[in-house]
Amino acid sequence: MTFNKVLDDVKIYEAGKPIELVVREYGVNPEDIIKLASNENPYGTSPKVVKRLTEVSSSAFVYPDDSMYELKDALASKFEVDSNNIIIGAGSDQVIEFCVHAKCNSNSNILMAKTTFAMYEIYGRQTGANILKTPSDEHNLNEFRKIYKDKGADLIFLCLPNNPLGECLDAKDVYDFLDEIDENTLVVLDGAYQEFARYKDGAKAINASDVTSKYPNVIYLGTFSKAYALGGMRVGYGIANPMIINSLYKLRPPFNITTLTLAGAIEALKDEEFVNECIVKNFVQMKRYEEFAVKQGFKYIPSFTNFITMYLGDFVSKEIAQKLLEKGVIVRDMTGYGFNAIRITIGRAEQNTKVFEILEKILEEIK
Ligand SMILES: *Cc1c(COP(=O)(O)O)cnc(C)c1O
Repeated sequence: MTFNKVLDDVKIYEAGKPIELVVREYGVNPEDIIKLASNENPYGTSPKVVKRLTEVSSSAFVYPDDSMYELKDALASKFEVDSNNIIIGAGSDQVIEFCVHAKCNSNSNILMAKTTFAMYEIYGRQTGANILKTPSDEHNLNEFRKIYKDKGADLIFLCLPNNPLGECLDAKDVYDFLDEIDENTLVVLDGAYQEFARYKDGAKAINASDVTSKYPNVIYLGTFSKAYALGGMRVGYGIANPMIINSLYKLRPPFNITTLTLAGAIEALKDEEFVNECIVKNFVQMKRYEEFAVKQGFKYIPSFTNFITMYLGDFVSKEIAQKLLEKGVIVRDMTGYGFNAIRITIGRAEQNTKVFEILEKILEEIK
């Protein structure tokens, strides 16, 4: 059977390995598994949100409120925008998909950093669009400018901070860049880790309200999957000028998030205290990873997120990631990105202590 030709160039997204797989393949007890591969919130879902989810579970038979009025209203007050500036997706992933399909076809150019969130390219190639990447792995706006000037772009992705590397552009530099971009080019500011970045360094904080009122061609994306600890519920959002939002709405399937998801997200926004505590702990624990790297003589990328990418020097990252997996520690090997490095989500204190112990032992054995 033949399929749409564009699919020939589409790679299948490889998600972080699930706990179930490690139990099955390596016989590790589920309680002993340390899953630090998908940048989930290691402190779990807020107890208030769990309680709310339990309460609404008996409403699972009812279709969700497709207007998503209450959630949009809560997001609108948080970000100081109007409800008609907001679209909700099944993860911000789905909003990325809407953006790509709303803007691109096989004649389009999509511009992104060389090493960034894999889904930008995957959705892009689904449309047959041309993918343009900067020479540098990390975001370098002068390289974006040069390619934009030479080749043009219909869609530009900036990941602020960047997954899987962890670096983050300053908001001011982003705004200067936006000033130079044509109104017919859609710019996606992916803020999946903005909560972490703005806590660590105010200069990284993107103001979604300012951006969307000043730039009619920019969309800001946020998610509940990382700091808000709702990865399993699949919910994210886009904030933009209503003209963009209306176009994206044409691509939205009805009831694209669930009744439980809606209730969980609304409750999560009420429990900011929980989120803030998690972010504080994240950076306390990140220090330990930095110290561990220094002690081992490993380089790492200073991170504005809830993960850290660490180069492994003379060790082979693929081998180390595999050995960690066999011991029940799930991390991301970066070989596929052309890096001899691993990306580790910053876990809870006791998880990190175990990771250091296990990793030290593995390194000692191989040496
Ligand atoms: C996790 C992530 C997302 C979206 O995740 P969803 O679970 O689909 O909301 C988007 N962009 C980046 C860079 C991410 O790391």
